[in-house]
Amino acid sequence: MSVQPVSERLFDRVALIGIGLIGSSLARALRRESPGTTLVACARRAETLATVRRLALADETTDDPATAAADADLVVIATPLSTYAEIGRRIAPALRPGAIVTDVGSVKEAVIRDLRPHLPDGVHFVPGHPVAGTEHSGPEAGFAELFHGRWCILTPPPETPPEAVADVTRMWERAGMRVVTMSADHHDRVLAVTSHLPHLIAYTIVGTATDLEDSLKSEVIEFSASGFRDFTRIAASDPVMWRDIFLNNREAVLEILQRFNEDLTALQRAIRWGEGKKLEDLFTRTRAIRRSIIEAKQA
Ligand code: NAP
Repeated sequence: MSVQPVSERLFDRVALIGIGLIGSSLARALRRESPGTTLVACARRAETLATVRRLALADETTDDPATAAADADLVVIATPLSTYAEIGRRIAPALRPGAIVTDVGSVKEAVIRDLRPHLPDGVHFVPGHPVAGTEHSGPEAGFAELFHGRWCILTPPPETPPEAVADVTRMWERAGMRVVTMSADHHDRVLAVTSHLPHLIAYTIVGTATDLEDSLKSEVIEFSASGFRDFTRIAASDPVMWRDIFLNNREAVLEILQRFNEDLTALQRAIRWGEGKKLEDLFTRTRAIRRSIIEAKQA
């Protein structure tokens, strides 16, 4: 008779504050990987909480972050970045000593700025960013496999005990992620290049097409080839989430945007002067980057 290995329980009680795409994907992964853990889900709207109950994503639901956080040994904040300071203020009195507070926000320095001042002594803070997502939102959009093979970046401040970082690392590894630790400042500069700038470009291109006169606009939609179609997928990402990302990673995004504008001007010049070799050289270099991403299994 074969005996199924029983997964070690990761945490006794996990509060998921925000249970949209990322929070509900983590709930699904925890359900599977740590079935003995009690999950408490918190959202603002009654209909979101009703969906969570219908999908059995959590054992308890509440619209009050403090109620969710009380007695939890892990609190995961998975709401838009603009809500963090207020959530920090509300959960602070409910947090028990020894609890770990982590998050999934796409920017890290601003998260530390907004949350750390609220956290009482004896509560351990492990800011995190699972670099995985889709353009969809809400608890129905989540799925446990979202995290498979992707990177999770943790940016713990120096005072966080290594045991707390190890506990959060184990959770994301069980969800299928590769986990790396770096400074919040470095995270924000890397993500400005790999994620924030591409979204800004996509929003701009689709915005430009939307502003075209009506006859041209209908043809853009009708004959939308893969280039434009791919941009529309990125530009369909949640408006509130992306507003918050740009407002909270302002310096890094503006710096990389400045460089991008310079490179774009150089390309404009090459096209104007018929400098084919310059164009071909650049396109050859960029093709090699695509190959490296495929080799790193991140495509
Ligand atoms: P989402 O699907 O829109 O879900 C957001 C959740 O937060 C909803 O459950 C919402 O509840 C809840 N919420 C909003 N304001 C709240 C408040 N004041 N109190 C309690 N709950 C509140 O968002 P998401 O895509 O999961 O993104 C969440 C976080 O993950 C963001 O910080 C984002 O930067 C980060 N992230 C996103 C991605 C991605 O690709 N989407 C990838 C990595 C990281 P209601 O439905 O009741 O409003």
